[in-house]
Amino acid sequence: MIPDGRAMMWGHFRRSGGGGGVVPLLPAHKIMLLAPHGGGERFAGLFRSVWAKMPLWGRRKILGHWRDERQAAGVFIYGGPSIALMDGPIHLDDRPDDRVLGLVNGRGFRIQFRGDRAAEMPDDVAMDLIAHELAHVYQWAAGWEEMTSGDHFAIEEGADHMTAAWGFGTTSVDEWALAVGRVGLVDPSSWTTAQKDEHNARVLRSGRGVLIP
Ligand SMILES: [Zn+2]
Repeated sequence: MIPDGRAMMWGHFRRSGGGGGVVPLLPAHKIMLLAPHGGGERFAGLFRSVWAKMPLWGRRKILGHWRDERQAAGVFIYGGPSIALMDGPIHLDDRPDDRVLGLVNGRGFRIQFRGDRAAEMPDDVAMDLIAHELAHVYQWAAGWEEMTSGDHFAIEEGADHMTAAWGFGTTSVDEWALAVGRVGLVDPSSWTTAQKDEHNARVLRSGRGVLIP
C-alpha cells in the first residue's frame, strides 16, 4: 500500500499558503509546479492553456498514467508527477546540456523545463514546447515500446506527430532556439564546417533540431 503522497503534498501546500516556489498547475488534479527560480505563474498559465486545448483522450490517458501507483512506484515517485521549471542547464545522462529545453524521464513522471529559456520564449513557442513534452508523457502512458528500446528518432517523430494532432506547432521551438542563438553556440553563420557537422550529426541522432546547411 502506498500512501497518497499527492494528497499529502497538496495539503501541505494549501496549509503553507502557497509560495516557496510551488504554484498550482492543475488544481483539479492536485498537481503542482515546482518553480523555485520564479516564472511559475506565467508558465502554469501557459501549461493550463495547452492542457485545455488538448483532446480529452490525451488528457485522460496522461492523468490515468500519473494516477497509476504501480507505475509511480517503479520510478520511486510518490504524490503525482514531478513537474519542475528551473533555471540553468538540464542534465542529460548526468551532464548539463545547455541545448535541452525540456525533458521527460522517470517513465513520464518526471518533467523538467528550462525556466530561463522558457521566460525568453513567446507564449506560443513555450506552449509548443509544453505540448511536445506532454506528448512524451503520452508515449509513456500509452506504452510505446520505443520508450524503453531507446529509438530516439522514432520517439521524437512520434512526439511531433502527436503534438501536431493536438493542434500545436512542431518546429517553432527549434526555430526559436536557432533564431536567438540558443543551440549551444552563439551564431551558426560563423560556425566552422566541423561545428556544423557535429551539430547536424546530433540533430540526426536525436531526431530534434534544425539542420544547418
Ligand atoms: Zn522530444
